[in-house]
Amino acid sequence: MTDTVLPVRGAAPYDVVIGRGLADRLPALIGDARRVAFLHAADLQQLAEPVLAAIRPHYDVLALGLPDGEQAKTADAVHQCWEALGEAGFTRSDVVVTFGGGATTDVGGFIAATWLRGVRVVHVPTTLLAMVDAAVGGKTGINTGAGKNLVGSFHEPSGVLVDLDTLATLPREELVAGMGEVVKCGFIADTGILDLVEADPAASTDPGGSVLPELVRRAIQVKIDVVVEDLRETAGTSAGEGHPGREALNYGHTLAHAIERAEDYRIRHGEAVAIGCCYVAELARRSGLLADDAADRHARVLAAIGLPVTHTGADFDALLATMRVDKKARGNVLRFVVLSEPGRPRVLEGPDETDLRAAYAALAPSAGGDHG
Ligand code: NAD
Repeated sequence: MTDTVLPVRGAAPYDVVIGRGLADRLPALIGDARRVAFLHAADLQQLAEPVLAAIRPHYDVLALGLPDGEQAKTADAVHQCWEALGEAGFTRSDVVVTFGGGATTDVGGFIAATWLRGVRVVHVPTTLLAMVDAAVGGKTGINTGAGKNLVGSFHEPSGVLVDLDTLATLPREELVAGMGEVVKCGFIADTGILDLVEADPAASTDPGGSVLPELVRRAIQVKIDVVVEDLRETAGTSAGEGHPGREALNYGHTLAHAIERAEDYRIRHGEAVAIGCCYVAELARRSGLLADDAADRHARVLAAIGLPVTHTGADFDALLATMRVDKKARGNVLRFVVLSEPGRPRVLEGPDETDLRAAYAALAPSAGGDHG
């Protein structure tokens, strides 16, 4: 494939470069600096070698291995990195590069946001989820004992390098989970994503093929369009009357967060999002907003690529209590991003509790939700 460059034209413009075998493109994204702090998931050392080889001739590289996955998103890990940066005399004109999944880009972005009140960061995401979601948009964060992502800041990267070759080693279930966010982008904005997945579900999850790169490009474009319109989740958007702005990215996430919590985070985020998308589709159908075929399309597309579309066994009152304290809730009024048709998101405020329960009950396999 030829490389694609997607410009992000926010207050501080930057490029997302997408392609294969892109290590040599990294120095141009990093730009002028003396030192680079290369923060990577320690387990991905071997995968990182070509990238390290590409930057070592140009910079003093301080490579720092982070614990795997969520274990990196702790105040302890951040503290250790701050100490290492201090020892290395890391200055404001030096640059942080992150290499790994969304956990690594989140914690690395947070370290870059806080060191000397903010140094540049370039993300090199290596999971599908991080490519299409975590690395673009400037959200950074770590976890505390009370919950996920409770501490963080907005700190936009100065470049993102999406090297699709890194997906070759990603476990299949992680790749499929990332597709949950890709398909979500199809439902909220670019229905061409849904058409591509429906036309060839197997090719959609083949990291060596030509369909997945197109899906990644389209999903990143959706995220760019939404975040450039509405960077800090406050203002409205020019996308159209009633468009929820950045909140649209939260499609399927309200129930997903509650399920993740109920399952003590043993379910992957993208899997929970797939279930959550089916839930809001059902809620929109019951509220008279979404036609039957468009609602049914959710489970059809998601199940075709191996994502879960059913959920049973949770205590719905507990899920409801978690949804009520979701950061998207305002006061005690539940808000859901729903669709009036594929590609047209809007907000549904304060739906009927009967509908909320019935939509969850409809996720039971026996209720016709089993499309696997
Ligand atoms: P992750 O970073 O935990 O990575 C999943 C696993 O895959 C890890 O074990 C990792 O070591 C491994 N891995 C990564 N790349 C690999 C590769 N190429 N080959 C083999 N193994 C590889 O998980 P994730 O799903 O990428 O990201 C989840 C995190 O992203 C969560 O912490 C979530 O809060 C965050 N997130 C942030 C945003 C945002 O806007 N900032 C958006 C979505 C998610």
